[in-house]
Amino acid sequence: MGLKTGLITTKHLNRLLGALVLLLALQPARVGGQEADSSGERKQKSLSEMLGGGRPVVPAGYFLFPIAPGKPGFLSGSMGELRPHHFHGGLDIKTGGGVNQPVYAAADGYLSRLKQSSFGYGNTLYITHANGLTTVYAHLNEFRGPVAEELLRQQYEKQTYELELNFDKDKFPVKRGEVVALSGNTGGSAGPHLHWEVRDAQDRQYNPLQWGGFAEVQDHVAPILQALAVEPLAIESRVERVFAKAVLVPKVQPAPGAATVWADTISAFGPVGLLVQGFDRFDNAWNKNGIQRVTVRVNGQPFYEHTIDAVPFPAGSRQISNFLDYHYQHTQGRQLQKLWVDEGNDLNIYNTGPGKGRLNVEFDAIGLGIDFTARDVQSELKKKGLPWELAKAFDGSAPISTTFRPVADFADLANINFHLEVNGEVKQRGNSGLMLHPFAKIISFVSQYITLKMGDLIFTGTPSGVGPVKAGDQLHGFLEGEKILDVAVR
Ligand SMILES: [Zn+2]
Repeated sequence: MGLKTGLITTKHLNRLLGALVLLLALQPARVGGQEADSSGERKQKSLSEMLGGGRPVVPAGYFLFPIAPGKPGFLSGSMGELRPHHFHGGLDIKTGGGVNQPVYAAADGYLSRLKQSSFGYGNTLYITHANGLTTVYAHLNEFRGPVAEELLRQQYEKQTYELELNFDKDKFPVKRGEVVALSGNTGGSAGPHLHWEVRDAQDRQYNPLQWGGFAEVQDHVAPILQALAVEPLAIESRVERVFAKAVLVPKVQPAPGAATVWADTISAFGPVGLLVQGFDRFDNAWNKNGIQRVTVRVNGQPFYEHTIDAVPFPAGSRQISNFLDYHYQHTQGRQLQKLWVDEGNDLNIYNTGPGKGRLNVEFDAIGLGIDFTARDVQSELKKKGLPWELAKAFDGSAPISTTFRPVADFADLANINFHLEVNGEVKQRGNSGLMLHPFAKIISFVSQYITLKMGDLIFTGTPSGVGPVKAGDQLHGFLEGEKILDVAVR
């Protein structure tokens, strides 16, 4: 491999002082080795991995849509929607603005539980199916069939309105499509609708739309993103020069169905996290529903994903205060979802690499450079009290190595050897461990004043041994023993 020869001319400069420096080549868009597992096929984490226990296998079409099956249905709430203090655990199905819509059993099974209540879920029916899953029908106006008589009997017997009854397998069998109740607005409901859930025996809530969906509910509308934010996650991290979250709001809202695109560039350094605010609409409905899945790709590679398809109820649901930037929401009113797994968050909805969604924006490569000072010019300028710019910044004042070695080549960034030979004699010898500040701190400091861009170079400090050079001198710089810098002075 031939080295290009750099030239530094002394034509107008009597004496040059050379100082070897380590060069940091910046590529701020690069992220550290924290990519999601991209080996082989990209597969969704199985629920057994996510929650423990097997993932329920439900054939498409197993469940009947419980309101007006076969007709277009509309949702006022979706699974995983971000509610105060919990993830919404099912679907809110619209009932045409009124109550007393027939509620159909979603599949064969038996009534396992009934609750008559003025709070929370209101009047609720639970149907357990042969596959072990239970469908939950909430905010009902009234129950139908023999169970309604049983309820009335027990209410008289116990002389109370509010009741919770559990039934054995054989007491109230139901058939798929049987009307089991009339829809309502009972309990903590803000308007007539059917809240409908699918749970397993451990009360884990599943997104009912995940098993092939329902023909009644169509979604061809892209989610709307209202904001994207970048947050520093370490003390040396900087976002737009400062240690603070940068929030980008799209300048133009996209046309319905179109993607939200940001053309902005955010400068950042160090470990940072992304946050997003948004909602999803279903076809022909204006309700702002939740977004179940968010995927982050970095340079085309899978990096982070969460899918709110299963949430342990209610403990897992409480983790929403960690999933969201709770403080920001309460001080700024914007609901930002973190796209990294924060400390203490044990929600099993993630598919990420070891960095758990933290982006490490770092420098890319290391090379060598020489920082020449025209000492005569500098003395002259000093004498006149003028700025030294001319003595430090002239053509050829900063020759750089022809080769840069990727950061990944170095086992320890705090132990990189480099030296400069002048006419074959070692004049300067340095080690990155001798630097006053580690690279991260230097970049962090610089980025507070100068926006760093891809391809920018930072000259770090110089080791001792700075000396004059003269015409005819041959300067060779070595990085870990490899000659990568060759400068002739003439
Ligand atoms: Zn609901």
